[in-house]
Amino acid sequence: MDTPKMRILIVEDEPDMALLIGRRLGRAGFSSDTAATMGEALEALRSISYDLMLLDRRLPDGDGADFVSVIRGLRPRINIMMVTALDTNRDKVAGLDAGADDYLTKPFNGPEFLARIRARLRQGSGGAPLPPIVVGALSFDPNARQASIEGRPFPLHKREFALLEALMRRANRVAIRSELIEEVYGFSRPVSPGALDTLVSRLRKRLAESRTGVEVHLVRGRGYLLTEAGA
Ligand code: CA
Repeated sequence: MDTPKMRILIVEDEPDMALLIGRRLGRAGFSSDTAATMGEALEALRSISYDLMLLDRRLPDGDGADFVSVIRGLRPRINIMMVTALDTNRDKVAGLDAGADDYLTKPFNGPEFLARIRARLRQGSGGAPLPPIVVGALSFDPNARQASIEGRPFPLHKREFALLEALMRRANRVAIRSELIEEVYGFSRPVSPGALDTLVSRLRKRLAESRTGVEVHLVRGRGYLLTEAGA
C-alpha cells in the first residue's frame, strides 16, 4: 500500500520557476500545487491541508513575509519555508521573525533544496502546539480551531467564526481593521465598507446571548478589541 504523499503548496508568481520547483518535487515523490499570488494561496489553504508551503517573498499582491501570520491563523501547524531572491541577512531575519520555519535563497541547487524540505518535514509540524486562548467563559483552541463555552461547543456561522478566531488570537490587543478583513474575507474579494461592522454586530449578539462574558469594543480609526466583559 502506498503511503500518502506529502503535499506542498508552491507560492511563486514566476511561471518558469513554479514549474521547475513543481517538477523537482514531483520527481522526489511529493505532490504539489501552485499559487501565483497570496490571494490564490489563501484560497488553496482554506480547502486543502498542506504539509508544507514554499513561500516567495516578492509576490504581485505583497511581501510573503507579511502573509505568514495570516497563514498561521488558518493553518497553525503548516511548515512554512520562505523562498527568496533576497539574500542579505536582514531579509532572512525578517522572514524568520515573521514566523517562517526556514528559508531558501534563490537560485538554489536541486539536492540541497530537497534535503532542506525533507529535513523540515522530519522535524514535524511547524510552530509549537499552541495553548488554548481563554477569555471570560469562552475558550478557543488554535490547533483544532474550535470555540467552546465551558466545554460546550459554541456554534457560529462560517464568517462569524472566522471573525471570532481573528479576534481571539489578538485578545486584549487591538485587532487592526485591514487584518480582520483579510482574515475573514480573504485578499481577493471586494468587501463593502460596512460589511465588517455588520458582522461584528452579529457576533456581539451571539456572544451576549450565549453568556460568554466576552465583549468586542470598537477602537475608532483602528479596529476592534476583544476583552472579558467589564474588563
Ligand atoms: Ca516573485
